[in-house]
Amino acid sequence: MTKRRSLLSRFLRVVLLLGLVLVGLSLVVVWQVGAWHLVFPSHHHDTVAPIISSDMVSPAVLVFSKTNSFRHTEGIAGGVKALQTITGTQQWGMFHTENGAVFNENDLARFDVVVFLNASGDVLSDEQEGDFQSWLQAGGGWLGIHSAGDDSHSEWQWYTDNLIGATFTAHIMGPQFQSATVVMENQAHPVLLDVPDTWQHEEEWYSWEQSPRVEGFSILASLDEASYNPVQKFMDYERDLRMGDHPVVWANCVGDGRSVYAAMGHKAESFEQPVFRQLILNALSWLIYAEACPFLPEPYDKVMTSVSNAGISPSGN
Ligand SMILES: [Zn+2]
Repeated sequence: MTKRRSLLSRFLRVVLLLGLVLVGLSLVVVWQVGAWHLVFPSHHHDTVAPIISSDMVSPAVLVFSKTNSFRHTEGIAGGVKALQTITGTQQWGMFHTENGAVFNENDLARFDVVVFLNASGDVLSDEQEGDFQSWLQAGGGWLGIHSAGDDSHSEWQWYTDNLIGATFTAHIMGPQFQSATVVMENQAHPVLLDVPDTWQHEEEWYSWEQSPRVEGFSILASLDEASYNPVQKFMDYERDLRMGDHPVVWANCVGDGRSVYAAMGHKAESFEQPVFRQLILNALSWLIYAEACPFLPEPYDKVMTSVSNAGISPSGN
């Protein structure tokens, strides 16, 4: 009887140990793929602003990549590298941080554009969100990249209403990365300067409940849904992610400010694509130099032409 009880207790201990090892390994995988804060969302808000060099040149771009939800480690690294090359070539200032306390009236006043580079989750306090909203509406510019448009920002209604204009549903899975045809829609828009009418881009393509076109956003480029397989697939489960009208790049006017969102940018490789690089350069140029939205004064066209002629290196540095 005692022997049987001891065997049972040994068996239970082995099962418990295996269970703990399995849970431990799963948590390591969750952390490694950047999903730690997707599983355990953070609401940490920074309180002490970073020091920004007093000799930062103007115009200047604030690159923000704080992740309180899913972390695109590679996409952030590749994006920072690309933005350093672009701002360097244009002789613009750039400051990269994951400290949300930079969103205060004094520090924001030093920047012309804020880039949400795969920023995710509840990254700013109510006060920081308010300061950003005031700064943007007074004539600032915002560029959102990839997960800036996912559903992790849903607690900030102003952000969804004014910068995204759509509710994220899911990204493709089956496979997760697919090359699709991107179709330029608004040839006259400066953000599409020197961008081909159609181009191929491999991406973890997002879908939304409906197109931001219905909310009055300016659609700049859309996906040809026949050019890839827009489904989310897990073993037997399959969800159709077709939108019909499926934009991936769009712009908006927010008070006296402007916004551009681009759905590309999951992997570092996305930022090595010359067309996507050109689009980021164009978007930053429009956000920095445009004085009116959506119509542009003539001097602005000249600025865009000179920016385009300066060229960029697709390979980075
Ligand atoms: Zn992604």
